[in-house]
Amino acid sequence: MATERMGSFIAVVGGGPAGLLAAQHLAEAGHQVVVYDAQPTVGRKFLVAGHGGFNLTNAEPLPDFEQRYGSRQASFQRYLRHFSPHDLRHWLHTLGIETFVGTSGRIFPTAAHKPAQVLRAWLSRLEALGVGIRVRHRWLGFTPDNGLRLRDDATGQELVVHPQATILALGGSSWTKTGSDGQWTTALTTSGVRCVPFEPANCGAEVTWSAFFRDKVGRVPLKNIALTCGLHTVRGELMLTDYGLEGTPVYALTPALRAALATEAPAVLLLNLKPDLSAAHLLEKLRQPRNGKSLAVYLDKTLRLGAPVPTLLRELGPATAGDSPGTLAALLQRLPIPVRGLRPLDEAISTAGGVAWDELDENLMLARRPGVFVAGEMLDWEAPTGGYLLQGCLSTGAWAAHGAHQWLAR
Ligand SMILES: Cc1cc2nc3c(=O)[nH]c(=O)nc-3n(C[C@H](O)[C@H](O)[C@H](O)COP(=O)(O)OP(=O)(O)OC[C@H]3O[C@@H](n4cnc5c(N)ncnc54)[C@H](O)[C@@H]3O)c2cc1C
Repeated sequence: MATERMGSFIAVVGGGPAGLLAAQHLAEAGHQVVVYDAQPTVGRKFLVAGHGGFNLTNAEPLPDFEQRYGSRQASFQRYLRHFSPHDLRHWLHTLGIETFVGTSGRIFPTAAHKPAQVLRAWLSRLEALGVGIRVRHRWLGFTPDNGLRLRDDATGQELVVHPQATILALGGSSWTKTGSDGQWTTALTTSGVRCVPFEPANCGAEVTWSAFFRDKVGRVPLKNIALTCGLHTVRGELMLTDYGLEGTPVYALTPALRAALATEAPAVLLLNLKPDLSAAHLLEKLRQPRNGKSLAVYLDKTLRLGAPVPTLLRELGPATAGDSPGTLAALLQRLPIPVRGLRPLDEAISTAGGVAWDELDENLMLARRPGVFVAGEMLDWEAPTGGYLLQGCLSTGAWAAHGAHQWLAR
């Protein structure tokens, strides 16, 4: 095993958005920084996010923004005040990347800036700051004297480095082909750091459709609906797929669904196909005589509810669904969808679970490993889609860098 001797430096392990921003902030503060990543290139999941819309952050007011982090709101308040959505836009502007506010406050790079260009601009800035990037270097764990054990996958050689401080930003555990394989939990748990098991977040839900429904409906959106799980209701566009459901409302309900599934399966989602009408107004409309029209034609003419709504009612409602205005109105606003489970971890947009909060101090330093800080999705938090994930990773990356800088300045 080789021991690499370099001058004083800070190691950032994991070259995703959290690690790369930590590296940038530390280099700007005058530190020598080396980023290690197991993959042949850095920022792979960042690029995947780019292909899926590249929603970088959100223009929502900060007090509302902070609430998106649920039980971790108080911690994220600190991180977001240190590196806010406004700071994120300004930082991108300094890289030459302009952004715009789209629907529902979501912030994107302008069409002129493709994901690969954003990453390239960022990596050029890091290069200009003298940040070293060592790819194909997998972190294996700590040595007893707080060194980092790494394997150079190009040569198969194991080496040990002794940085002044370390930022671990190894990601969650989904889309493993991007490098976020969650294997780092073994190294941390063997050194006594408690990690909460990973769970899929922002993922699809599985419903056992009949073969008839799958063949007839396939993949189709239901626009402007509301979806409820327990006490939580989310508006948006739901996608019916052959395995079940996907789309923003179901992603946002993942924590509630996960909790419901832990007590009983299937868990029930209630679908409101006419969330803008009061129950009384809907009933009044449905009291119009049908005059022999089929249910499909009647729903289309009276409520502009076309395909696949009649098929969905037939699939999930009783055979008598269309018999009385009262039954029909109730079903259209509270159609029960039995969810048998969540989609597999590897398909999830993000993951809950990771390094437990009670292992960290307020600067995101591991209590058991002074000088080792943790950032990004490897921490145990979750947030909905809408720009809250990347912002959360970047803000924790900036905060961990700040913590490491302060710690070294003591
Ligand atoms: C399909 C999809 C679409 C998305 N769209 C959006 C979006 O529009 N907006 C949004 O806000 N978020 C989005 N996200 C989520 C966002 O991409 C992630 O939250 C973010 O990339 C996590 O950043 P991170 O730096 O914590 O970890 P990652 O980006 O996962 O990076 C972790 C890095 O650590 C490296 N690594 C792991 N283990 C080791 C090891 N043992 N040794 C060395 N290196 C290691 C990996 O190779 C990787 O480079 C999307 C995600 C997916 C999958």
